[in-house]
Amino acid sequence: MVEFEVSDDGIATITWNVADRPMNVLNDVSIAQFEKCIDRALSEPSIKGALITSSRPEFLVGADLDTLRGVTDASVAMKLAGRLSALLRRMERGGKPFVAAINGSALGGGLEVCLASHRRIAADNPRTQLGLPEVTLGLLPGAGGTQRLPRMIGLQRALPLLLEGRTLDVAKALELGIVDEVVPADQLLSRARQWLLAAGATDAVQPWDRKGFKMPGGGPQTANGRQLFMVTVGGVRAKTAGLYPAPTEILSCLHDGCNVDIDAGLKIEGRRLAKLAISPTAQNMIRTLFYAIGDANRLATRPAGVQRQTFTRLGILGAGMMGHGIAHVAAKSGLDVVLLDTSREAAEAGRTKALAPLERQVAQGRMAAGELERIAGRIKATANFDDLSGVDIVVEAVFENRAVKAAVTAKAEAVLAPTAIFASNTSTLPITGLAEASRRPKNFIGLHFFSPVERMQLVEVIRGRETSEETVARAMDFVKQIRKTPIVVNDGRGFYTSRVFGTYVYEGMALLADGVLPSVIDRAGTNAGMPVGPLALMDEVSIELMHKVMRQTQADLGAAYQPQPQDPVLVKMVEHLGRLGRKSGGGFYEYATDGTKHLWPDLGKHFPLAKEQPDFEDVRKRLMYIQSLEAARCLEENIIDASNADVGSILGWGFPAALGGVVSQIDTVGLARFVEECDRLAQRYGARFLPPKILRDRAGKEKLFRAA
Ligand code: NAD
Repeated sequence: MVEFEVSDDGIATITWNVADRPMNVLNDVSIAQFEKCIDRALSEPSIKGALITSSRPEFLVGADLDTLRGVTDASVAMKLAGRLSALLRRMERGGKPFVAAINGSALGGGLEVCLASHRRIAADNPRTQLGLPEVTLGLLPGAGGTQRLPRMIGLQRALPLLLEGRTLDVAKALELGIVDEVVPADQLLSRARQWLLAAGATDAVQPWDRKGFKMPGGGPQTANGRQLFMVTVGGVRAKTAGLYPAPTEILSCLHDGCNVDIDAGLKIEGRRLAKLAISPTAQNMIRTLFYAIGDANRLATRPAGVQRQTFTRLGILGAGMMGHGIAHVAAKSGLDVVLLDTSREAAEAGRTKALAPLERQVAQGRMAAGELERIAGRIKATANFDDLSGVDIVVEAVFENRAVKAAVTAKAEAVLAPTAIFASNTSTLPITGLAEASRRPKNFIGLHFFSPVERMQLVEVIRGRETSEETVARAMDFVKQIRKTPIVVNDGRGFYTSRVFGTYVYEGMALLADGVLPSVIDRAGTNAGMPVGPLALMDEVSIELMHKVMRQTQADLGAAYQPQPQDPVLVKMVEHLGRLGRKSGGGFYEYATDGTKHLWPDLGKHFPLAKEQPDFEDVRKRLMYIQSLEAARCLEENIIDASNADVGSILGWGFPAALGGVVSQIDTVGLARFVEECDRLAQRYGARFLPPKILRDRAGKEKLFRAA
């Protein structure tokens, strides 16, 4: 895992190669080996100094999260963090020079190894990323990152890197002073060796261990420092809404730790990391953001026994908002795209829109003109169905209308190869019903993209009743190929994401109908960590659209339709008041031309306030628990599994990652307590809060849905 070699000139080379993991990572075993190497380098008198490098494309990408997964004991977490931290301190204080020869990405603990080295030389490698991304998983760098980085580049430059977990390329790292020099890759080791051979005694002492050391730019108690912390604390509070403890802990490490000597600072850092590592927030973020999204990207639930497919040619029906977005991502991923609309002009207009974001990138110098040309050459705009011959897959994104969809299905299938997949991007129409228009329902599937397609990572893969497992597997291959994250769901009204996400906005309207102050409703949503309040979100999505969905469902279900608390609000807003949403001039909010908005002042007239306003916590719980209840019903009906449900909630509608997703929220609250609370809400606000059987059954045994 870590190799050790000494050359005749007395320079040791320590080479990372954690062969049994996909990348070089820090875990109990690799740290123990690294420790042996460092101790040997320090103790053997013939060794003058050592260089640390890797024989794999990356340098070292940080902690092996398997070691932190499910840890609930603070002492275990503390030991994990403490070991590397103590080792690095020994290394930098040992009196011999160490150089990090950074051949590729150094992230988290990997960068911390570099920071503790006496010199950092990086290969000029455009793929290298350097950074401390721990915060993005609810953690903090626990092997000196919060102490050495600010002592090296100053608080002001270190803070954003630690708080946002941003990564840098080599050039930027050089500019900031995180690396000392950048050399051509083939000279990396010789340059490191040369520096070591020339190094004098003081080169083996870190600046912060020298007499009279001063923090660059001043410490936390200088006027600059105080000002900086004042501004940053406010910003962090506003952003994290009290849900994400890591940024606050990082701030404390910098504030308290940079005010004392580095040994005391490292102790502060270790204690704070241990606290974070066992927090439900970090455990939730690691479980879902790292493992569950990783599983989804690796197609962990892909049906077995189907050969992997690489797609070369995609047909898109409808060059509207979704169609051109899909054309953009597919062409960028190297597929040839046939973009079809009712007229050649409409298709061309879609093609132009598909390329517009790339043209902006070229104008800003972020993409080469030749690359744009190559991508543009892959998109063919047409109105002729014959052009679809030879495509491996079709994505249909025409109007949300059964008859229109049925017509284009038949026309496309007339020219498609028998093996080609036909995928509908419908947002509301059940796939099984749409597949009735197909002559080959086994090859018919749903691929539900989200808007804007360029930015939204998730694609819901919807299995209709007749869809074959082979089609599911191949559709997942397609999603992966265009670099999106698939979750597989079974057919049903609203599939998974729209169905569960819908409960959030509907509950917002139910609260309005109950006479709750509108500003409180939206604040409760954002306060709970949702990106936007439910009423503001309704305006964005379009109240008119939700009204249409309601009327369509009423028509489809007839007498079986169960009236919902939001129905009267939709009827009043759309049919009586003509407030259809943001695009139509306003809805629950009024929109000024300067981009600002405020709640529509007449809202109170049409939805009178209740005399007694509910507890804020209750409003918050109603908005959040209703989502988890609906997700639990989806699990019960076998629409989706728990891991994908969490992934879909975070990537699909921005459910707070701190809670690990909509299902993890139940585990985090505790099953028995969640059921108890929902029973209480049901009694007070309606039967929609009654927990489904799956929840009651598990609650008795505290059987978690998403065990660590
Ligand atoms: P849109 O109105 O922007 O685009 C639809 C396009 O289809 C138009 O360009 C239209 O000319 C074309 N079209 C209509 N009939 C056609 C036909 N017979 N042959 C070829 N082209 C035809 O709509 P959109 O927002 O892109 O939505 C398309 C589909 O994607 C709908 O089913 C919608 O429910 C679904 N969807 C939309 C969103 C969203 O946020 N807009 C999200 C997910 C899914």
